[in-house]
Amino acid sequence: MKTPNEDIGKKKEDADVTNPKSALSVNPGVADAPAISPYIRDQRKTLSRKEISAEELAAGILSGNRTHLSKAITLVESNLEAHNDKAQAILELVMPKVGNSIRIGITGVPGVGKSTFIESFGSYLLEQNHKLAVLAIDPSSQRTKGSILGDKTRMEILSKSENAFIRPSPSSGSLGGVARKTRESMYLCEAAGFDTIIIETVGVGQSETQVHSMVDFFLLLMLAGAGDELQGIKRGIMEMADLIAINKADGQNEPFAKRARVEYESALHLFPAPESKWTPRATTCSGIGGKGIDEIWKLVLDYISTTKTNGYYAKNRETQTRMWFEETLREVVLEQFFMRPGKKEAILESETKLMSGQSTLLKEIKRLMD
Ligand code: GDP
Repeated sequence: MKTPNEDIGKKKEDADVTNPKSALSVNPGVADAPAISPYIRDQRKTLSRKEISAEELAAGILSGNRTHLSKAITLVESNLEAHNDKAQAILELVMPKVGNSIRIGITGVPGVGKSTFIESFGSYLLEQNHKLAVLAIDPSSQRTKGSILGDKTRMEILSKSENAFIRPSPSSGSLGGVARKTRESMYLCEAAGFDTIIIETVGVGQSETQVHSMVDFFLLLMLAGAGDELQGIKRGIMEMADLIAINKADGQNEPFAKRARVEYESALHLFPAPESKWTPRATTCSGIGGKGIDEIWKLVLDYISTTKTNGYYAKNRETQTRMWFEETLREVVLEQFFMRPGKKEAILESETKLMSGQSTLLKEIKRLMD
């Protein structure tokens, strides 16, 4: 006896599956789209399968490979120990090619026009066949907030140019940590052949001092205010400036900017003569109009040649490196001391003993050091 199922099976076999009109015919299908773009997948393969060695990255950087430069900077910025070790290995390899650039720090309050100025100044430098790297130091910012690439429209020309390299501020870390990352990134850019480095500080605060301690020339951008020109920026920052540029000197603002320039110039004379023997100047410029940009570059070159001749240029770089080393050493030693297990309790114990007169200061310090 046949089962009903056998009958159905027979009917299926009899059906003409090759007839395109048959409801049972099978049309050639379209392959499923890949879950991820094959282009990205291939890139992933090369990235994950073959990790680029420190030697290869260093060689790439020295030949001007921007992808390798970016990767190395990512290693410098990483908080993972393995990444840092690799970054240090790269730095060691490229160190002989480091130092051949003009390092310029640019600072000013938010809204003074720093990014517009850097776009204009940078474009001018590119026209003169320079290779420019722009780095930012801003410990308060996160990568997407307030740092130089946070707003995509900022520095549009530079970000598209082959001869410019823009890197936002490292996303996190203490000021000292961010400063180290920025300085090492600067070294890598120099090794990659960038002959001019701009380090921008976003905002006002301690980061100006950090930038000042890693550049040759420090430019302070300011705005003309009605009568209160000297306010809004700390005296210490003005004292560090090699040049003060009154920005937005265009349209109706131009006469105010010119007046402010005269006032700043006389204010600068009140500061003690700097060790560089360079007399800090004040000038006017317009980032939007490009006015005064060439004059500022001329002043930078003038400063470099003056300080190279009088020996300050080399001496300053040596001092900067020594201070950087000493500061970092101090930071690391302190961190290691306080991070040791049981340290917190031991400190509390010493404090209690001291307060109750049970012990002496040096005795307790010796105990903690031991
Ligand atoms: P930052 O915060 O210091 O980087 O300043 P921005 O470059 O973002 O500029 C802040 C505002 O000032 C923007 O609206 C710019 O369009 C404007 N601005 C920048 N430079 C100039 C300039 O040279 N002249 C005038 N009139 N406005 C400018």
